[in-house]
Amino acid sequence: MRVQNWTPRIYPPLLLGHLGVLLWVGERRILACSYAFVLAILGFTVLLCWRRLRLSVRHNRPLWGLLLLSLAAQCAAFGLLLDDALRHPQGTLVAFDTTFYFCLSELALLIAAAYSPLTRVRRWTTGLDSVLACAIVALFYALLRQLLGGGATEATARTLMWMFDGIALFVALFATLRFVAVQRADERRFYFVLMAYAWAEALLPAIHNRFILSSESYLPELLLGLPFVLLGLLLSRRRKVWLRRYRPGRRTRRITASLRPLVLSLALCLLSFAELGQDRPLAIAALILAVVTYGTRTTVLLAYHLAVEEELRRLRRDLHHRSIHDELTGLLNRTGFRQVLRRTGQEAVRTRRGFGVAVVDVDNFKAFNDTYGHLAGDDCLSLVAHALRSEAARRAGVVAARYGGEEFVLLMSGAAADDAEAWTQQLREHVQSLQIRHLNAPLGVVTVSAGLALMPAGAALASEKLLRAADDALYEAKRAGRNQVRVAAVHVLPARLTA
Ligand code: GH3
Ligand code: MG
Ligand code: MG
Repeated sequence: MRVQNWTPRIYPPLLLGHLGVLLWVGERRILACSYAFVLAILGFTVLLCWRRLRLSVRHNRPLWGLLLLSLAAQCAAFGLLLDDALRHPQGTLVAFDTTFYFCLSELALLIAAAYSPLTRVRRWTTGLDSVLACAIVALFYALLRQLLGGGATEATARTLMWMFDGIALFVALFATLRFVAVQRADERRFYFVLMAYAWAEALLPAIHNRFILSSESYLPELLLGLPFVLLGLLLSRRRKVWLRRYRPGRRTRRITASLRPLVLSLALCLLSFAELGQDRPLAIAALILAVVTYGTRTTVLLAYHLAVEEELRRLRRDLHHRSIHDELTGLLNRTGFRQVLRRTGQEAVRTRRGFGVAVVDVDNFKAFNDTYGHLAGDDCLSLVAHALRSEAARRAGVVAARYGGEEFVLLMSGAAADDAEAWTQQLREHVQSLQIRHLNAPLGVVTVSAGLALMPAGAALASEKLLRAADDALYEAKRAGRNQVRVAAVHVLPARLTA
């Protein structure tokens, strides 16, 4: 039988047994028996936590391990209380040794709430947060020692009680802060458990402490085992993601992420001020640590974010380049060409200068693919593209692009537009002169046909229409036998350019 299935059979009898002890056992043994029951409850919860640790995914194990460590520290504290109760049946007002283990338990919870190791920068910040958490708990412990050095009076016990309430409340708030911003579902489960347990650990012992100082009844002792029962119940729940629908908003995440280091540093500063009157050098050292750790954390994060920002900028540039360039030929693609065409159209209207568009198509390319295969077809397209690019590079105002498949486009503006037809002819001859073997073509080599459309200076015609006219001219060239250039008869409209 699985250990989590024992939960309904173990906790109720233990709680009833605890209640029975508090109601019927005599004063001499009541505290010892009560602590024994708390220890039994705690022991079973440790078992459940151990099981959860073993079942959890690897990156979450330190979290459950810290919770287990916190429970182990509680075991040590209650073990000492039991030992003390056996030796002093009436109980001691302040059992000093236990405070160390209670502090250790709070420290483990605090580090768990700050833990976030998945990226390198997070490992760094987790390290710095852990240093702050250790410093907070160490200073808290130093304050306890100084307080208890003055003797165990009722006033001391009351101050101690407030101090423990304060640190438990701080841990609960910190765990809540972490829970509200947690993104991953597996982490949400842990932080929900941690938050619920931390609040129970903050509130129930606080109520217990207030009752025992003001009443003779032993019944409040029952409250000591309840946080562990709650934790055990949460740990033994079947695999379920709590608050599945809850997704922290970007703003919540940003606010809590920036608050986390501030909260820890501020807590250390506050404790340092409390320590100033007791041990000045220690207080100043703690203050310096709070400031230095906060500064280091900010520097580490800033350096990281600057690097990320730079990388994002590079990626954006790269993405933009890819979005407007053709992978095979390195020429502009259809999107890139349309952008240039639109800009050139607008510029032509503004400067009242003409420009030309040529659509160039490889002749009988399907047959080329069928004869030599697609890879050879790609090589052929690259060679043609290279010829277009080198011709275009020789003239100012010419932009070459791959429009799709084996179809290329050329944009000729400025001086290049003046002798566009002659230049397109030259380009066609260049491709033919490459002598790319094509046994299924009339000339035995790869050739291209081109359709050219020219927009005269001062005319107004949508660049899309100009492109369509060039395409029509290309099909005329194809119909006329291929390997030739045809010029479109563009009907210039008096309308405003709508490029
Ligand atoms: P035409 O002379 O009339 O232009 O005939 P064509 O065979 O060149 O034209 P068609 O449109 O019939 O065939 C074009 C072929 O181009 C079909 C397609 O497989 C091929 N193609 C398109 N893009 C690529 C590519 O990126 N690589 C390769 N290898 N082939 C391509
Ligand atoms: Mg073709
Ligand atoms: Mg084609």
